[in-house]
Amino acid sequence: IKWTEGRGWHDAQLVPYAPLSIDPANMTLHYAQTIFEGLKAYRQPDGSVASFRPEANAERFQASARRLAMPELPVETFIAACEALVRQDKAWVPSEGEASLYLRPFMFATEVGLGVRPSNEYLFLVIASPAGAYFSGGVKPVSVWLSEEYVRAAPGGTGAAKTGGNYAASLVAQAQAIGHGCDQVVWLDAIERRWIEEMGGMNLYFVYGDRIVTPELSGSLLPGITRDSLLSIAADLGYEVAEGRISVEDWKRGNEDGTLTEVFACGTAAVITPVGSVKSTRAGWTVADGQPGAVTMRLRAALLDIQSGRAADPHGWMRPLGA
Ligand code: PMP
Repeated sequence: IKWTEGRGWHDAQLVPYAPLSIDPANMTLHYAQTIFEGLKAYRQPDGSVASFRPEANAERFQASARRLAMPELPVETFIAACEALVRQDKAWVPSEGEASLYLRPFMFATEVGLGVRPSNEYLFLVIASPAGAYFSGGVKPVSVWLSEEYVRAAPGGTGAAKTGGNYAASLVAQAQAIGHGCDQVVWLDAIERRWIEEMGGMNLYFVYGDRIVTPELSGSLLPGITRDSLLSIAADLGYEVAEGRISVEDWKRGNEDGTLTEVFACGTAAVITPVGSVKSTRAGWTVADGQPGAVTMRLRAALLDIQSGRAADPHGWMRPLGA
């Protein structure tokens, strides 16, 4: 779907996957005016296909558009575009286990010019790719690197938007994490370099027995839809759930005195991933016994059961797509 100044959205088309031709002076290549979303379509027990909270993805896409001075796509147009693609590609929606069809809606500037200003033309696209179970040999805890040198996002910046620049800014820290033998980077706040924000592509949860805490939306972390859903699911299951501030010292101390029993990360791709160990330039520790915890696995099963249609959907999160 195209957007042109003075004309709005027009020319919705369903076309075979193919390369795009881009002008060398396309503004996106230079000024990164680009946003995206990630959501999944799941095969339901009756053979139909449904996606998980696509309205929430559509609304976050609108929020990202506002932050990047881009036009907002109506929620129903966003969902209709996903639905048109899923109808076409229905055969590609897997039926086994945790597999799904990953949908990637995105929008970028298409105007040609070298001046730094919002583009007058945009293109919105959706592509899809079948996604197998994230863990092939059973759930495996990840090791994380606390990034003290680099920050992903600062107050007033674009951290709460899903825009390419945030991910470009994170690549060097992710490479450092790998260099230190860790799987993922954990970001701290930009001002004090003390408060836990999020992981490279997932939000974090800290489990203290029956009490579960996730870092509050500081303005510089992505408001994850899995994070938001777990606030409700955990409460439904009887846990005490809160959003709050958690510092590196809190994490270390809770681990030492045994009050912190589990840490996990959550996001669309991996659903829920236990965090097994932590490393930084100054310290390193194993989270509890380093194994997937009972609360982590219980929440993971509860969320997957809703997404795959095996459990009731008390919050009305599943939306039929391309039935
Ligand atoms: N933080 C970042 C930086 C991400 O890229 C993602 C993945 N979209 C998340 C958190 C988790 O968000 P969600 O649960 O909506 O997938």
